[in-house]
Amino acid sequence: MNDVRKVVLKQGREKSLRNRHPWIFSGAVDSFPEFQNGEVLPVHSSSGEFLAKAYFHAQNSISGRVLTFLDEPISQAVTRRLLEAIQLRKGLFDPDVTNCYRLVNAEGDGLAGLVIDIYDDVAVIQISTYGMEALKPLIVQILNAQLRLQGIYEKSQSAARRQEGLSNFSGLLSGECPQEVIVKENGTLFVVDIEEGQKTGLFLDQRQMRQLTQTLSSGRRVLNCFSYTAGFSLFALKGGALSVTSIDSSQKACDCARANTHLNPTLKNRHEIVCEDVFGFLKNKELPFNLIILDPPAFAKKKQDVNEACRGYKEINRLCLQKMPPSSYLLTSSCSHFIDENLFGQLIFQAAVEANREAVICSSHIQALDHPVSLFHPEGRYLKSLLLYVK
Ligand code: SAH
Repeated sequence: MNDVRKVVLKQGREKSLRNRHPWIFSGAVDSFPEFQNGEVLPVHSSSGEFLAKAYFHAQNSISGRVLTFLDEPISQAVTRRLLEAIQLRKGLFDPDVTNCYRLVNAEGDGLAGLVIDIYDDVAVIQISTYGMEALKPLIVQILNAQLRLQGIYEKSQSAARRQEGLSNFSGLLSGECPQEVIVKENGTLFVVDIEEGQKTGLFLDQRQMRQLTQTLSSGRRVLNCFSYTAGFSLFALKGGALSVTSIDSSQKACDCARANTHLNPTLKNRHEIVCEDVFGFLKNKELPFNLIILDPPAFAKKKQDVNEACRGYKEINRLCLQKMPPSSYLLTSSCSHFIDENLFGQLIFQAAVEANREAVICSSHIQALDHPVSLFHPEGRYLKSLLLYVK
């Protein structure tokens, strides 16, 4: 069996694989055979024991990403993982109420490099690695066999992809796909621009926070910062908000917010959409809002951005805490991978200290339940939200 091409780890570096962490750092590898980027290879310990099968990339510091810890054909592993992902979501949503959800959440579903979001009968897939790219035909085949889909559209645009040397790609992979799909999230309608929308179309990971907003909004004046589709705003209106102001600096996002508001005619009144920079708005305006939502884009897209990002998060939270009236709620989030729960908590603490404001944490949250996090891959906990009550 010595002629089997395999990756061998350095002595003592097998622990994380034994603990089912799916990443293999280049520094842990003793020897590679010659391989093509994206190729799947078995991984052995220094004593020759089989540990996993992973796909590899020669230039990435995460050189391997595990697809299975069993010695099995890779098509079998990918099929099993996709079927598990489908099974996990079965029964989570009543399709008459919610027909958009994440079907595959990368490492959270054991499929590093792959995200699949479902918008009614259209699947939008996002591939970020060479290894997953090679598995695309198999994934399309399984999706078509398992789900009743009108079309599968690929929207692979990410910095991770460019780091791997893959160019961005958008296009139809199978079936037919309208440019716009109208979906329901907890009974509220949203138009998803499959080709032009941000990410795969909607930020599905905040579904539960939008529902929380609905329960908090009755009789309140609500400010939704970084509003994009106006998702939080529509749920605030549904929950009986007196008024809602949505702010986003992108004209396209504001147009999308307006279109979504019109799709839900009962929510049309009491909604103001402002196309403006949030930092300037919070700095220059009075904030007579007793529920503010801060759901910014990832300020830290890479590790080097963390300090600057911390300043940004602290600034927007400080301004809200300083200016909000007494007895208000602040629902504040960060989706930066590089800012963990502890650091985010510290930033909010510092913001409250600087604002000289007393606040308590009512609840803390991660991404919605169709975005599972592997117990063995805590890095998958990217989204953090805190609901604060400001005294
Ligand atoms: N809360 C949204 C998702 C936010 S995505 C939801 O529930 O779907 C982040 C949004 O922030 C984008 O629409 C982007 O246009 C907007 N944005 C980024 N920087 C901004 C800034 N400085 N001021 C206002 N909007 C900004």
